[in-house]
Amino acid sequence: MKVAEQPSAPITVPLLDLKAQFRPLRAEILAAIAAVMESQQFILGPQGSALEQEIAAMVGVRAAVGCASGSDALMLALMAAGIGPGDEVICPTFTFVATAGAVARLGARPVFVDIDPRTFTLDSAAVAQAVSARTRAIIPVHLYGLTADMQALDEIARRVDALLVEDCAQALGARYRGRAAGALGAMACLSFYPTKNLGGAGDGGMVLTDDNALAQRLGMIRDHGSRRRYEHEIAGVNSRLDEIQAAVLRVKLPRLEKWNQARRAVAARYRELLADLAQVRVPIVPSECEHVYHQFAIRCARRDELRQFLRQRGIASEVYYPIPLHLQPAFAHLGYRPGQLPQAEAAAREVLCLPIYPELVAPRQELVVDTIRRFYAGD
Ligand SMILES: *Cc1c(COP(=O)(O)O)cnc(C)c1O
Repeated sequence: MKVAEQPSAPITVPLLDLKAQFRPLRAEILAAIAAVMESQQFILGPQGSALEQEIAAMVGVRAAVGCASGSDALMLALMAAGIGPGDEVICPTFTFVATAGAVARLGARPVFVDIDPRTFTLDSAAVAQAVSARTRAIIPVHLYGLTADMQALDEIARRVDALLVEDCAQALGARYRGRAAGALGAMACLSFYPTKNLGGAGDGGMVLTDDNALAQRLGMIRDHGSRRRYEHEIAGVNSRLDEIQAAVLRVKLPRLEKWNQARRAVAARYRELLADLAQVRVPIVPSECEHVYHQFAIRCARRDELRQFLRQRGIASEVYYPIPLHLQPAFAHLGYRPGQLPQAEAAAREVLCLPIYPELVAPRQELVVDTIRRFYAGD
């Protein structure tokens, strides 16, 4: 295929293609939205409870509590655990800002820890060194769709009596030693942001737990701290998953497994196509993990030049994430310095996420890899 050579080439391979996912579901999704409109019940209704039950059953936990976003799911989980000023929460520094934002918003202190360079997830040995008497929770992020080193983290959490709160925003459907992501800690936080593996038609999130007392608190906190109308037992917030979002997500949920399998097939093809390219390292998947490839993140030489080269030829790519959280202005007051968490800083310089979505066809992938090849051949 001939592609344009000018700087702002039209996109021929996008990072993701939500329209391709919507097309075959169009009638079903529009009917589900219409049914909510006919019911005129928009908040805390039957669609939301049905979705909570369906996701809890799929993951294998007792309770699920819908809320307004993945970021709020993290905040609600920490609120339900009673975390606030004076408390410390361990977070990876290489993640989306929301992971640590929730900690900071509650007045607690995010303690940033480096990543394992092979998996991009929390380095459990570094976590063991970072815990203190003030550590109340550890938030492993299953980055890009790969579960963190949960067995080691669970042991550390038990030893210091901290809660393990999974940030599962990128990993619904992933598995660790045969168990579903979302059922590996005391609580797990999901995001239904439209680009996630299970994405809604707007913002949405959910907290999963096996603990009935936590589930009850979560249910109260998301609804102004009340169990009965106008009786407020604790100071809560307004963070609910609306019925239109729940109805759309219920159409998509039965397809998630199939979509995740398609993502795995795309990833396998990338591995094959990239196998002999010395300048590119493909993601490593430990044998105990089942990846769901929210992203296909390569590590590569001359990353920014490669990205520019791809962009000029109509191929999208993205850097998740270019600045580790310990170096973000929002967390400058915590006093971290460049060089302090070197694996995350190296990943931020080298990582590049290639187009990946269930409907991505082989010829387009071949174009992506051919273009990468041309870059390193000194095109
Ligand atoms: C998307 C995401 C979130 C936040 O989810 P929102 O629904 O966008 O608020 C949190 N953590 C990670 C790792 C994410 O990818």
